[in-house]
Amino acid sequence: MDLYEYQARDIFGAHGVPVLHGIVARTPDEARAAATALGDGLKVVKAQVKTGGRGKAGGVKLARTPEETEAKAAEILGMDIKGHTVRTVLIADGADIAEEYYFSILLDRSERRYLAMASVEGGMEIEQLAVERPDALAKVAVDPLVGVDEAKADEIIAAAGFRPELHDQVKAAILRLWDVYKGEDATLVEVNPLVLTEDGTIIALDGKVTLDDNAGFRHPDHEALVDQAAEDPLEAKAKAANLNYVKLDGQVGIIGNGAGLVMSTLDVVALAGAPMGVKPANFLDIGGGASAEVMAAGLDVILGDAQVKSVLVNVFGGITACDEVANGIVQALALLGDAETKPLVVRLDGNNVEEGRRILAAANHPLVTMVDTMDGAAAKAAELAQ
Ligand code: GDP
Ligand code: MN
Repeated sequence: MDLYEYQARDIFGAHGVPVLHGIVARTPDEARAAATALGDGLKVVKAQVKTGGRGKAGGVKLARTPEETEAKAAEILGMDIKGHTVRTVLIADGADIAEEYYFSILLDRSERRYLAMASVEGGMEIEQLAVERPDALAKVAVDPLVGVDEAKADEIIAAAGFRPELHDQVKAAILRLWDVYKGEDATLVEVNPLVLTEDGTIIALDGKVTLDDNAGFRHPDHEALVDQAAEDPLEAKAKAANLNYVKLDGQVGIIGNGAGLVMSTLDVVALAGAPMGVKPANFLDIGGGASAEVMAAGLDVILGDAQVKSVLVNVFGGITACDEVANGIVQALALLGDAETKPLVVRLDGNNVEEGRRILAAANHPLVTMVDTMDGAAAKAAELAQ
């Protein structure tokens, strides 16, 4: 899960990373009240969208008074930044910037370790810096079993070339940011810019944090960070039903058991549908014990997708026998009743397949077509979706 800047800054603050105080606002009125509450001095109004380059897009503006803050917030709210509509702004104390730096820690999957990156030439977009001035971007490998200790922080600071008088403050910030990374189970912590203010203080002025959802069970408090409004309604519904569902942009709804089989099913449907512009509509793995309830919940989510024109159920009976799955499908159709209005192509194979096919044939549901092979089923589902 990617966090909004204000959420990242809250977490930074809780871990002792130096940040400036800020308040979130959803309307120009709230923005003005936030500025008043923060007190005198420079304010910055920042669009809260989960994409970078807000500054360039006009989503970051300075303001000197509550009136000006309100006006700037009115300009930024509703703005579209790279396809993201701005619904909230962060009103924060503004910094008088002397210099801008860059720091990040991320998961380096290919090397099976973490990577710290730092530069004293911040401000520029980091992708651009990496291409145009690769020497200015220090990259330091971090052993996951050791982490960023004092020695590693010194190594990062030396590699980036921070001036000696900044070492203590930058080191403290890096150690606190590592505390965020490790303590919150993040896969990315990025600060661009980390700034030196005119009065000589190091502050994290922006924050980008990605949390590892697989570690969510260790962080019950992370649940509150989920942005319900921005979540896809079908994905939210699937999540509530404990289903492994990912919405895609196609017309053939897919249900299968086992992530590998479902991935393969997406491939064969994409292949079969390509000539007619038909694509898979989703990923949905109903797992091992495909009970009628789970099947019904899955179908219910898929049928809620207006784009779906047909559904392919592809089940390979392993521990779960095909007759149980077939009963699950029949009961699911009964549970859904009139809600089930789209043709269903079912391919069953594996453990107890004969009995499974017999059950479906006996049920003789008008919307169900049985096909014996995966390729055949994909072709049929694609044709029905056309
Ligand atoms: P991004 O463009 O989405 O990465 O948003 P940032 O939070 O990094 O802000 C973009 C730029 O706006 C920064 O690089 C700064 O130059 C400027 N900026 C952000 N906050 C402040 C602030 O408090 N004071 C001043 N003077 N400039 C700021
Ligand atoms: Mn930034």
